[in-house]
Amino acid sequence: MPAPDMNTIVSLCKRRGFLFQSSEIYGGLESTWDYGPMGVELKNAVKREWWKANVYDRDDMEGLDAAILMKRAVWRYSGHEETFHDPMIDCKKCKKRFRADHLEPGTEACPECGGELTEARQFNLMFRTHVGPVSDDESSLVYLRPETAQGIFVNFANVQTAMRRKLPFGIAQIGKAFRNEIVTGNFIFRTREFEQMEIEFFCRPGEDEEWHRHWVDQRYNWYIGLGIDPSHLRRYDVPADDLAHYSKATVDLEYEYPIGWSELEGIANRTDFDLQSHSKGPTGEDGKRLNRDTTVDLTYFDPQSREHVTPYVIEPSAGVDRSVLALLCEAYSERDTGKGQPRVVMGLDPRLAPIKAAVLPLKRNEPRIVEKGRALRRMLSEHFRAVYDDTGGIGKLYARQDEIGTPFCCTVDFQTLDDDTVTVRDRDTWDQQRVAVGELAAHLGSRLVVRGNES
Ligand code: ATP
Repeated sequence: MPAPDMNTIVSLCKRRGFLFQSSEIYGGLESTWDYGPMGVELKNAVKREWWKANVYDRDDMEGLDAAILMKRAVWRYSGHEETFHDPMIDCKKCKKRFRADHLEPGTEACPECGGELTEARQFNLMFRTHVGPVSDDESSLVYLRPETAQGIFVNFANVQTAMRRKLPFGIAQIGKAFRNEIVTGNFIFRTREFEQMEIEFFCRPGEDEEWHRHWVDQRYNWYIGLGIDPSHLRRYDVPADDLAHYSKATVDLEYEYPIGWSELEGIANRTDFDLQSHSKGPTGEDGKRLNRDTTVDLTYFDPQSREHVTPYVIEPSAGVDRSVLALLCEAYSERDTGKGQPRVVMGLDPRLAPIKAAVLPLKRNEPRIVEKGRALRRMLSEHFRAVYDDTGGIGKLYARQDEIGTPFCCTVDFQTLDDDTVTVRDRDTWDQQRVAVGELAAHLGSRLVVRGNES
């Protein structure tokens, strides 16, 4: 099945309640998206799987949820105030704006209209806002965080002490990040408000390269385990002259989106750059501390060597929205119904499916069937997300559940009233089988688990 194009995914997402344009009734806010009823379930499931794999399934990880607003000093010492820029070029004729580093080298005229281009100007990507009522005062300036990572670095000592951690260990965090991107677009691939799933994994200097390899493998396998085909995912070694200022080595995981191969996650070896930057550090030539705003040294006392070391950091940094987009593209398929129009079936891993089972009445104006169906939905909801839907004929109801990726539909019919069995229809094979109501939750539960483990 060829990859779907982006418009196909966007229109499915709108039609089936995964994503809507933000402020749509006012004409929409450019490149800003709201997750609808199905989208929020999918997104939560992606985050839940990430948290499970990286926090619950390991014994060397702690979780954190730091505030979005931080002291301005954090961004001064992290280097963001000075270096978190993108070069911007405008076309004087059609006014289109480009990121200079996204244009072909040597581009002299506007690729859209051939017009004259301005010189490249540096543009800081951090959103500014103010704390308190005096909004023109520089002293009240704060930024919306452009990455979740710094909240982890400044809490390194808190977490390590409170949780009595020894190296190596990591801190994981999921949260919103904001970047005033020059050029946005491609649906939820590049937006100004997005969500990240980040790990800062602290290890001894000298062990960093091995941990870097470990995390590249772990993160690659996580996507494959959730159903991404290996032919659509690749590792890209970022060349030395493209590395961020803090990075010793970075491997990007790239997915083959409808727009081509693009970054899904970056796994960087950040060395001791950040912990050093946020430490008061050695005294400078003028006799003052290099970092004048902090009170601590973010070091670790190594009980083996009885020395203080500044840990090295491996950072797997994934985008929630780019993961959702990749998983949506991957799940998309069209199946022949034999009736002309192909049917869209979203083959999402059951762990990610927004709804695990739908209870559908064969006749919606037969009170005994409706009552039975509603009771079944309540019973299944004690185990997993189940819905009752009687808003159309059975064919339409199946089609809707296929389009949102519901693994199982349970149909209540007249036979149910006689022998207390329902028809269970499988999304992937469209096979149907009769199952006793008393065994339904266990039956579906075990098939959901098996299917999840297979994919
Ligand atoms: P790009 O080169 O695409 O701008 P980046 O290298 O600046 O990305 P990082 O700073 O490494 O991105 O951020 C880590 C992850 O956060 C990215 O791999 C991506 O999944 C996600 N991310 C970054 N910027 C955005 C954005 N504007 N919209 C959606 N997700 C983003």
